[in-house]
Amino acid sequence: MSRHIAVLPCDGAGKEVVPEAIKVLRAAGADFEFEEFDVNADAYLRTGVAIPDSIWSELEKADAILFGAVGDPRVPDPEYLAGVLLRLRFELDLYVNLRPAKLYDDRLSPLRREDRRSVDLLVVRENTEGLYVGMGGRFKKGTEHEVAIQEDLNTYTGVTRILEYAFEVARREVVMVDKSNAMTHAGGLWQARWKEVAEANPKLKTRHLFVDAAAMQLVKDPSQFDVIVTGNLFGDILSDLTAELIGGMGIAPSGNINPRSGRGLFEPVHGTAPDIAGRGLVNPIGAILSASMMVRHLGHADMSEAIEGAVESAIRAGECTRDLGGNLSTGECGDAVAKRLRD
Ligand code: ATP
Repeated sequence: MSRHIAVLPCDGAGKEVVPEAIKVLRAAGADFEFEEFDVNADAYLRTGVAIPDSIWSELEKADAILFGAVGDPRVPDPEYLAGVLLRLRFELDLYVNLRPAKLYDDRLSPLRREDRRSVDLLVVRENTEGLYVGMGGRFKKGTEHEVAIQEDLNTYTGVTRILEYAFEVARREVVMVDKSNAMTHAGGLWQARWKEVAEANPKLKTRHLFVDAAAMQLVKDPSQFDVIVTGNLFGDILSDLTAELIGGMGIAPSGNINPRSGRGLFEPVHGTAPDIAGRGLVNPIGAILSASMMVRHLGHADMSEAIEGAVESAIRAGECTRDLGGNLSTGECGDAVAKRLRD
């Protein structure tokens, strides 16, 4: 039975990279029905609604969501961003945010030492709690006495399930990252759950790092890492760092999943890239690798490997966009990957 994929290109670079990901999926022989929805800043400016109810019910029914990027300088209010991506993550309970970092070609790495360049790690970021839930407020706003409070929400269930998931996907080691020496309440809960979940998984190596040390180690020798599990904020920050290690924002993919319900939303790590959007300069590889994660999630591991292999071959041949040292446009880069899958 053909799978139904809801497609949300949204704004800026998203509109350019998502069609390339679909081009590659078709070239890989994916038997999917793609349905694109009008969720973007233009629609929001017209209607004042981020995702209308009629579209929301379709998104809930889809087998997976292929997502580009959201944001537009004409819509500075945070309601729009919260009403699209955060709503999807929170209300579909996509509690795992997977951010793999794999180095496809040595020349893309800023690391000089060859033995430290074998980067192939996965950041497992908690995606529905932490500092991003929007709890808190501003008191005496706009005055010299203003007080702003942003709450860091961590639950027993939320912390436990993300830690357990990290053990499910790890190959050799799980590194838990927090800041429990300074943030003792949230850190205390993470530490307690970590101890118990780690003890229940004796087959894998385990290590704990404070986030500052983790950032340092990621730059010093990223080849040491397999799976890093952490909260929403630290996962967001560290995965931008890991994206840079493998060639930059244009190449890094991500998946937002709920392993229990099977729901998933797949999007490149980058945003709308307003500085380069609309001129054929954006790299579609992050979106293409996100599509590859989507097909793996839907049970097609072979197709996912084929797409990844085609991406690696195109990059190594220099058939890529400017940010990766090539001179192809967004569409030509998509073609270079798709061609390898058809041949
Ligand atoms: P947003 O507000 O939507 O997150 P942003 O500019 O803050 O947008 P990104 O879109 O992630 O954040 O872009 C950060 C930088 O990385 C940009 O300056 C852009 O040039 C570069 N970049 C992002 N995506 C790509 C891409 N697909 N290809 C090439 N460069 C990219």
